Amino acid sequence: MLPEVVDAMEPWLRDGYGNPSSLHADGRRAKDAIDKAREIISDSLGALFAEVIFTSSGTEAANLASVGAALANEDSRRKRILFSAVEHHCVLHTEPILRRLGYEVELIPVDRIGRVRLKALQDMLGEDVLLVSVMHANNELGTIQPIEEVARMANENGTLFHCDAVQTFPTSDLHADLVTISAHKINGPKGVGAIYIKAGTRIKPITVGGGQEREMRAGTENTATIVGFGEATKQIKNRPDNRREARDTFLSALQIPQLIQTVPNSDDLLQGHAHIRIPGVQAETMLILLDRMGVSASSGAACSSGSIEPSHVLLACGYTQEEAKEGLRFTFGRETSLEEAKEAAQCVHDAAKQLGR
Ligand code: PLP
Repeated sequence: MLPEVVDAMEPWLRDGYGNPSSLHADGRRAKDAIDKAREIISDSLGALFAEVIFTSSGTEAANLASVGAALANEDSRRKRILFSAVEHHCVLHTEPILRRLGYEVELIPVDRIGRVRLKALQDMLGEDVLLVSVMHANNELGTIQPIEEVARMANENGTLFHCDAVQTFPTSDLHADLVTISAHKINGPKGVGAIYIKAGTRIKPITVGGGQEREMRAGTENTATIVGFGEATKQIKNRPDNRREARDTFLSALQIPQLIQTVPNSDDLLQGHAHIRIPGVQAETMLILLDRMGVSASSGAACSSGSIEPSHVLLACGYTQEEAKEGLRFTFGRETSLEEAKEAAQCVHDAAKQLGR
């Protein structure tokens, strides 16, 4: 976390213990601090103050977007929901709930780099579609989606548009009805997210109780993490940003003949992302070797009950089951030095060599 964020949070962990819903002075101070964070975040989204609701995570915010929209529109003729096939699991895994509520979920196909096929989306849209969910940028590959076109199509169809902007916040002009974000992607605390709900959007809460967050998300707010989210949003805009340079340095230092860059054109990519495959080498094996060398990389392949599951993102892009276990993701922070990027490339090189590549 950024030191400024830790400093901003600390008083709320130590002394500022008042419940933001309480009317006493301690409570009012906590509420003011939360509202200050709401102001910073709504400004940076180009939103109104009241359009931002805090949640416990990006996951909860995305659950609220789809399930909340479905709950509020049960009386509507619109009974289909479209998710891009490469959405984060916090979107995709709402499908069984939506089905139980009477909706049918369909996946929008993507191309080889994980970009939604606009023609397919156009063909899938119709008067029976309630919601389209397409993320701004993919967390695994780093691919940036043609979000303006998606928003325009959804809008022309009278369909709600949810954009998971966890990977790109602070960002504005998403032309979406619902936008979900998370603090830990901008060097803020873990365990806090938010949802932008455009004024007038029909949506119901998925947590009920004390009526906090304008009755949209019950539960006592976590003042410290919300304050940290606001501070991170403020800080992140003014920090030096090395991400693109570090990523490019890393990629050009990699000298492994068989290596394949999943998204070859960096214009299609988030600036801090690199995604590679070394055919025949499982990501898990590479990750273990890299971890021993002090490199924290990841893969989209999930490990469940002792066996690796292939990445749903690579499968959606048309890769085979085996290929979908080979994806390696490297992300670079704003403050990653070029030296560190070169060292990471050397480690990948050494690990590949150990594996006979
Ligand atoms: N959406 C995307 C694109 C993400 O990358 C993540 C987290 O990695 C999430 C949603 C979930 O956010 P959180 O970790 O705050 O639940």
